[in-house]
Amino acid sequence: MAAIIDRTWIDRKLDNGFDREDLEAILRATPAEAEELFSAARRVRDEIFGRKAFIRAVIEFANTCRCSCIYCGMRTENADAVRFTLEPDEIVAIARRALDNGIRTFFLQAAESEEYNADWLTSVIGRISSMGMMVLLCVGVHRPEDLDMWYEAGARKFILKHETADAALFAEMKPGFTLSDRIEWLRILKEHRYEIGSGPLLGLPGQTVESLVDDLILLKELDVEMSSVSVFLPAKGTPLEGYPVGDVDLALRFIAAMRLYLKDTLIPATSTFERLMEGGQLRCFDAGANVITVNMTPPRLRDDYELYSDRFYVGLDHARKTIRDAGLQETTEAELLEL
Ligand code: SF4
Repeated sequence: MAAIIDRTWIDRKLDNGFDREDLEAILRATPAEAEELFSAARRVRDEIFGRKAFIRAVIEFANTCRCSCIYCGMRTENADAVRFTLEPDEIVAIARRALDNGIRTFFLQAAESEEYNADWLTSVIGRISSMGMMVLLCVGVHRPEDLDMWYEAGARKFILKHETADAALFAEMKPGFTLSDRIEWLRILKEHRYEIGSGPLLGLPGQTVESLVDDLILLKELDVEMSSVSVFLPAKGTPLEGYPVGDVDLALRFIAAMRLYLKDTLIPATSTFERLMEGGQLRCFDAGANVITVNMTPPRLRDDYELYSDRFYVGLDHARKTIRDAGLQETTEAELLEL
């Protein structure tokens, strides 16, 4: 018989550990059980980090891409996509603006672009890091020697989403790539001293709840410092254009599962939740999240960074209000982690 999830069950599992069956029960929880899970996830978060959350700023600085991920509007086959690479001075000026607004973590994100080289990015990282900002990278797969240059320049964290732990689905979604290479690359990032982040895209066609359990187990095995989930939203002009969006309620239970199972990772309330549901990011905080990312890509370009169509752009006022509404106090990443 399926487990009945209540506080006693959750406390017992928190003490003794969650197995595969428990994780599946969490993902399949009823609405009433989900409320118990969210409440426990908040307790775990607050015990580890305090009733606090922090804001980081992202800039999407290049959108040319050599890859063909079939869910993404920036895939190389999309000839209609407008391609851009920002100038370093503009990136640094935006980082300065973030800092002036009290944001101390700057997130440099790009598609798998060949429009810039490792030295170019080293210089950008160095300029931002020297302002006293924590630099986080999400720039895809590069040469291992580049990782050391970027680390020396000040980058300390690297996000590489694994998207799905189902190897066959991964190969279908990301033609030309394998899940095992992706996992290997995450291990290489660790070897090169980075704190790493990863997570799935929830709602991919053909994805199962069992494979979402595998996602959780993979995150644990990788010993990630940052874990996240985004909800699938179709992008126009891609092979998945006509597919339905992912299940937000399942994604919220996935957040609670990450908090209860992984416990001390940073978990963002991603914009896809707000795009699908007003107050969706607040629900993420209520399910155990503790980070929100403000989008600082210049408005003239951000629609061209089309991970999915009609994106929701998180502004600073929205981020601050969401943290307040969650009953949390805004802090910086360094303070939250007691660095
Ligand atoms: S998901 Fe990333 S790597 Fe894949 S096509 Fe889009 S930008 Fe490129």
